[in-house]
Amino acid sequence: MTIWFDTEEMLIGGRWLRAADTLTLEDPSTGAPLAEIARGQAREIDAAVAAGHAALSGEWGRMPAFERGRILSRLGDLVRARVEDLAVLEAMDVGKPLKQARADAVALARYLEFYGGAADKVHGTTIPYLDGYTVYTLRQPHGVTGHIVPWNYPMQIIGRSVGAALAMGNACVLKPAEEACLTALAFARLACEAGLPPGALNVVPGLGPEAGAALSAHPGIHHISFTGSVATGANVQMAAGANVVPVTLELGGKSPQIVFADADLDAALPFLVNAGIQNAGQTCSAASRILVHRDVHDDVVARMAERYAALRVGPAMDDLDVGPLISARQKAIVEGFLDRADGLTVAARGQVEGTGGHFVAPTLLTGADADHPLAQAEIFGPVQVVLPFEDEAEALRIANGTDYGLVAGVWTRDGARQMRMARDLRAGQVFLNNYGAGGGVELPFGGVGKSGHGREKGFEALYGLSQLKTVAAHHG
Ligand code: NAD
Repeated sequence: MTIWFDTEEMLIGGRWLRAADTLTLEDPSTGAPLAEIARGQAREIDAAVAAGHAALSGEWGRMPAFERGRILSRLGDLVRARVEDLAVLEAMDVGKPLKQARADAVALARYLEFYGGAADKVHGTTIPYLDGYTVYTLRQPHGVTGHIVPWNYPMQIIGRSVGAALAMGNACVLKPAEEACLTALAFARLACEAGLPPGALNVVPGLGPEAGAALSAHPGIHHISFTGSVATGANVQMAAGANVVPVTLELGGKSPQIVFADADLDAALPFLVNAGIQNAGQTCSAASRILVHRDVHDDVVARMAERYAALRVGPAMDDLDVGPLISARQKAIVEGFLDRADGLTVAARGQVEGTGGHFVAPTLLTGADADHPLAQAEIFGPVQVVLPFEDEAEALRIANGTDYGLVAGVWTRDGARQMRMARDLRAGQVFLNNYGAGGGVELPFGGVGKSGHGREKGFEALYGLSQLKTVAAHHG
């Protein structure tokens, strides 16, 4: 049984409820309907926020930190026990090859294990102060937190944002994406099974401009974590700003991997290609620009092209290298970019084996100037652009020359250059002689510029999802 629960129900205040209307999820590998989900609206968001407040005034609000951690760890165990089921759901819903979906399910378990263990390890401090005073700080939850999640990595993004928020004792309202929300609903079922009290987690699927907009503008919300596009993120921030609500934005990027002439190319090659085509390029930290020193440019392009030619594209459950894009709309966006690739050379293309789904052949492009639109915009498809550079200064100028700044990779054996590049690259994460560091549940993650602000993952997320209160006691 692939889908083992009623997909039309949403979780509000510990109860599984239906909305007045439903939306249809599509299988991106075939274009066929996959499931009906609730079309939550402002009314359901209101109820979910109220349920969050009720949870904070009840059992959840009084629960010791170690007990919250224990529930999260239990939830991690339940996720681990159902990795295969969750992977199949994510593969069907998002269209990602099964092995990639499996890695996402394991990452969800890892987030829950990490935040389960961390829940009782975020402490306040005492501050030496004036004679007759004792001063200390308390780390406290924001209150009710909103989590607006996109369709590309539902499980991972839920793990890093909802996991950290629950660890700090917030009550969450999660609005998954209308294109893919099956694992969000499965996660909510498992959270109930793990013993999370009613209202600590509420899940309301629905359309962005309806449920998402209602959540962003809700006066009863105390913090919002958003992952998605720049335009929507800016809207969410403006809506939250009207209520003076803090927002964490993770908005994607145009991340470079920079290959110097002294790099270990054999080690770099798999990372150069995989980080561009993973999840069909629909990854916020996709390495969509490959900057290569002129001396090794042609060699790197030839070796990347060889890998591209061997890439197989097909349905998620066939578990090939690349699956379909999420929707016909996303496919049209990516093809629109490729139509505007004038002046560029197609160095290689992968092979599409599937039919009927939203497949796009992975495409490796060369010959672009650094300011070409395809070298500047986030394409969010399996497309990489290779750009040559002369020296370190030019590499840095090109790497830092977009509106974004999420992630960067540097391949060189020169230790001093590694340090200079790590210091000067405009990015939230820099990888030296690797890319992605295997996912990095423990590693703070987030962007600068149009890639967003705030940090998720690791302990840093726990600070963002809590507030600091200073208590000054005068006792003489
Ligand atoms: P989007 O930003 O519109 O959607 C992301 C989430 O925001 C979804 O849950 C959606 O329902 C919600 N949303 C949409 N409109 C909203 C609103 N007015 N108020 C509150 N929430 C709202 O992204 P998209 O339309 O799915 O994709 C468009 C582009 O965004 C992609 O081509 C890609 O470039 C980018 N994107 C980036 C990421 C990332 O990981 N950074 C993820 C998805 C999409």
